[in-house]
Amino acid sequence: MKLLSAGAALTVTGSCHRIETRGRRILVDCGLFQGPREIARLNREPFPFQPREIDAVLLTHGHLDHCGRLPLLAEQGFRGPIYAVRSTRSITEVILNDAAKLQQEDWERAMRKAGNKPREPGDIESPLYVPGDIPKTLELFREVGFDESIDLGEGVRAVFRPAGHILGSAFIEIETPDGRVVASGDLGNRESSIQQNAERPRECDAVIVESTYADRTHRTLPDTLEEFRSVIRKGVETGGVIMIPSFALERAQIVLYHINRMMREGGIPQVDVFVDSPMAAKMTRLYQESANEFKEPIAADLAAGRDPFEPPTLKFTVDAEESKKLNDLDCCAIIIAGSGMMTGGRILHHLRNQLHKPEASLVIVGYQSEGTLGRRLVDGARHVRIYGTEIDVQASVHTIGGLSAHADKDDLLAWLEGTGNAHAWLVHGELPVMKTFAGLLESRGRAATMVERGREYDLV
Ligand SMILES: [Zn+2]
Repeated sequence: MKLLSAGAALTVTGSCHRIETRGRRILVDCGLFQGPREIARLNREPFPFQPREIDAVLLTHGHLDHCGRLPLLAEQGFRGPIYAVRSTRSITEVILNDAAKLQQEDWERAMRKAGNKPREPGDIESPLYVPGDIPKTLELFREVGFDESIDLGEGVRAVFRPAGHILGSAFIEIETPDGRVVASGDLGNRESSIQQNAERPRECDAVIVESTYADRTHRTLPDTLEEFRSVIRKGVETGGVIMIPSFALERAQIVLYHINRMMREGGIPQVDVFVDSPMAAKMTRLYQESANEFKEPIAADLAAGRDPFEPPTLKFTVDAEESKKLNDLDCCAIIIAGSGMMTGGRILHHLRNQLHKPEASLVIVGYQSEGTLGRRLVDGARHVRIYGTEIDVQASVHTIGGLSAHADKDDLLAWLEGTGNAHAWLVHGELPVMKTFAGLLESRGRAATMVERGREYDLV
């Protein structure tokens, strides 16, 4: 049985791994490379295999870095089924349409700026795909249930099992006549308040495992929630607008869930809550429809007739006009908007309008990578430039760790125990993190290999 990586090898995006056994070629995920230009450029390189020779795709979850190259795969000749659980298919539809729309808009803007004449061919890159390309990908989807055994031919079978990372997320067990391999996809934080814990995998011969946060432990949930509550209370007391930049999928719903609980339990006052993101509004609806898939307190909320993701004062602002009206707010409201790292989107308008006010607060609930506006603010920048306006940062800036949707080191080690002493093939992590984790696994007697893109390995 062979493994060939086509992404998320020594990096965290572009997840795509081919497993080949008994003449069957199976892809686990086909995600987009995201980040700076030199990384995003990898999306334009040919796959290290022939898309038409892939028999099936197994999609672990709907994050763009796991599903975002599926339209390219379909465009380049792949005609097999894409297996995914129902909520992953729904999330993928929203994510791919959004990615296609953004690419088209970026391209149109760049063309307009260049007077519709690129200086030289390739000067303005065409979109990887446009909204019209998405239906062709979606029609390849086949819905599977958790724990259902899928026949992939030649004695190869796959089972999706809950991974506890985001709605619909799965790890996948692949049974073959030559042995058993488990692919982790992204694994969840066991302290998540909403997601069920990842199930324990069965013993196997090889495990392909993510290592995003394999070198750290998250702050505990009670500490995180206490900090979140006191920051919001303080923000309301000083009388300003509280801005929470957030990713539309999972993080926005976790934030809404906690605000809802805190408001209903009297931990924070019932000020207005605006979700100023059409995509977060769509995702929240998917979460509301699937609430029975989450942890027990959520089922209890539902039984009591409460929507776990809907604080009593919640309003979604979908169109741009409604969003603009929020510019006039100057007191006591919470605005949740994208993008999560403040690199674009509606949050930038709010930051421009509010950051200079000493009574305003910015509450950062997600990872901010190097080079982003979010990272500069976390690092204490007192002056920033947004849409050409110089802003003196007077608002208070708070960072809340511990709301991550990813497994930390202890979560990964606990999950790996289920696999017995299987060889660990490390993917989906930065090099220094992977090195530390590989060393830790080896010191515990488990063989570990850091997978490189484009290289083929014998798994079993
Ligand atoms: Zn993910």
